[in-house]
Amino acid sequence: MPELRDSFGRRIADLRISLTERCNYRCVYCRYGADADGTEDPLAWPDLRRLARVFSALGIHKFRLTGGEPLLRDGIVDFVAYLASLRGPGGPEEGGLDIALTTNGHLLAPRAAALRAAGLNRITVSLDSLREEGFARITRVRGGLQHVLAGIEAAAAAGLNPVKINVVLMRGHNDHEIEAFAAFARERALTIRFIEFMPLEQADAQKGEHGELWSRDLVVPYQEVVDRIAGFYPLEPLPLRPSETARRFRFADGAPGEIGIIAPVSSPFCNQCSRIRLTADGQLRTCLFSLREWDLKPALANPDDAALIDVIGRAVWLKEERHHIGEPGFVKPARGMVRIGG
Ligand code: SAM
Repeated sequence: MPELRDSFGRRIADLRISLTERCNYRCVYCRYGADADGTEDPLAWPDLRRLARVFSALGIHKFRLTGGEPLLRDGIVDFVAYLASLRGPGGPEEGGLDIALTTNGHLLAPRAAALRAAGLNRITVSLDSLREEGFARITRVRGGLQHVLAGIEAAAAAGLNPVKINVVLMRGHNDHEIEAFAAFARERALTIRFIEFMPLEQADAQKGEHGELWSRDLVVPYQEVVDRIAGFYPLEPLPLRPSETARRFRFADGAPGEIGIIAPVSSPFCNQCSRIRLTADGQLRTCLFSLREWDLKPALANPDDAALIDVIGRAVWLKEERHHIGEPGFVKPARGMVRIGG
């Protein structure tokens, strides 16, 4: 089977699969309104398994399960086991299939060991504040922090090391915790990845009076984060890995843990992007900021994989060269992150 390449010569090897649009958190930077959990019609497991098989044959070697909140979907452990069955003899260490999960961690503690046993080999937990108050303000859920911390511990105990923590930084909301997160990385041997806030909030059609939160002033740029941490804990840059989105640093004093910074706004990495995304409702997106989606459902209705391979190949070929955040005329996608799959 042909490998997937776009018209700019980029090889596509990384697929993010959103398992559900539902989420048990309502992070202020991601969703407005309380009622975004409404109806959804996610792809059924047999369709997801078929797609995984086809994408794997097309050279996708990293699958990341996301959402919404992927742990809200029953059957995820079996799906991880199915992905692991596509791995073949070579594990991820030998360049084989990499199976990752991004979760808010709320439901992780009781599932971490089963996910690991099924074949999950990496986990990223989103956590934007280490303080109860800040956590509740950002997620709009009270009492969640202890669940997430327990989830992180359970993931580490299950051997999903190093656990990665995603922190979306927003000036005035949680940027005062940058140093506390760096200390947390050192204490628990975690990889903390600070992510620049992107204009991807879900609009609330019913409550049109809500403005949008995103503005460039809320983005805490890459260099500021590095300088702030280095003022407390000197950092040493780590070499860039191919198609790595994060600039990585270790602590110069040899403490455990790692700092990563993902800066899609202040220093985009589109030229090395190897990703595509599958939404829960079966749309293929070739960029987070795509204004066009490719509906895979008609091809899924055809038992011959050729139709699927054709539409996937055409979509990938037309992958956008780059995003246009901050440029005049930038148009935000109609779906917010919760419905795209982060
Ligand atoms: N519910 C899961 C979670 O919380 O990790 C998976 C889905 S969530 C949409 C995936 C990631 O996207 C999270 O780390 C979240 O913080 C990040 N995210 C959501 N909206 C964002 C935005 N506007 N800018 C940057 N990151 C964002």
